[in-house]
Amino acid sequence: MSVKDKIILITGASDGIGKTVALDLAKKGAKLILLGSNGTKLNAVYGQLSGVEKDYHLSLECDLSLLNDQSAIEIEAAILEHYGRLDGIIHNAATLKKMTPLIDLETNLWEKILKVNLTSQFIITKTLLNLILKEENGRVIFTSSNVAIQPKAFWGAYAVSKYAVKGMAELFRQELENIHQIKIFNFDPGPSPTSMREIAYPNEDKETLKSLEKLIPCYEWFFSEASNNTNQHYFKFSDFKI
Ligand code: NDP
Repeated sequence: MSVKDKIILITGASDGIGKTVALDLAKKGAKLILLGSNGTKLNAVYGQLSGVEKDYHLSLECDLSLLNDQSAIEIEAAILEHYGRLDGIIHNAATLKKMTPLIDLETNLWEKILKVNLTSQFIITKTLLNLILKEENGRVIFTSSNVAIQPKAFWGAYAVSKYAVKGMAELFRQELENIHQIKIFNFDPGPSPTSMREIAYPNEDKETLKSLEKLIPCYEWFFSEASNNTNQHYFKFSDFKI
């Protein structure tokens, strides 16, 4: 099983890790649904996807902070119309906004971060599972962070969202894996040179971090036959010995 001809929704495909993974999976023949809120950035990535006719991939401009049940149904309809099926989701999009003590975090920002990083993933997953569960080796990959394991001051609603995503991924896993041929993974990519990382560590020398391309084999493995029989469901980049 390779990613060739797999139909995969990647959220946050317009930048950072999601963009790098999208460009690579497309090279290997996956059919991608790119999702991001910035249409200009999304179109730029779409234009860079390799070697295929224009309608091979699908680009969905969507602000996850505004997502509701209806818009998730519209995403499902767009995928059904374009491909008729779906193999998996990489829930990669997230927002950090700023580092701040909780006492100073505006309530509307708290709500927006939780909506993008947690609630939208709940809504999209429950809506699109209808499609994924019809496939033989469906995958849902959530994205974690070390702040989901180890609380760190000033990481605010982002840290809270990653804690909650860890719990949500585990619930989906327990409820689905025993009765369906699906794998639910949660992956912490570790320190990676992106604009989000720069918000948290503005003075860090990016050269000291691994390149984003190092993450690619991890995502390929999640969609491989080799990951069908693993009992592990929470992964850190360091688990991959890359
Ligand atoms: P970036 O900030 O580089 O990219 C974030 C992506 O999420 C962008 O494509 C952005 O698209 C999308 N996004 C943000 N807000 C919204 C929204 N409201 N609606 C739709 N899309 C949105 O982040 P990274 O690549 O660093 O992060 C990717 C994932 O990896 C995240 O889940 C992050 O928590 C996790 N992670 C990252 C680490 C790191 O060191 N970089 C470490 C541990 C975990 P757009 O601009 O189009 O809205």
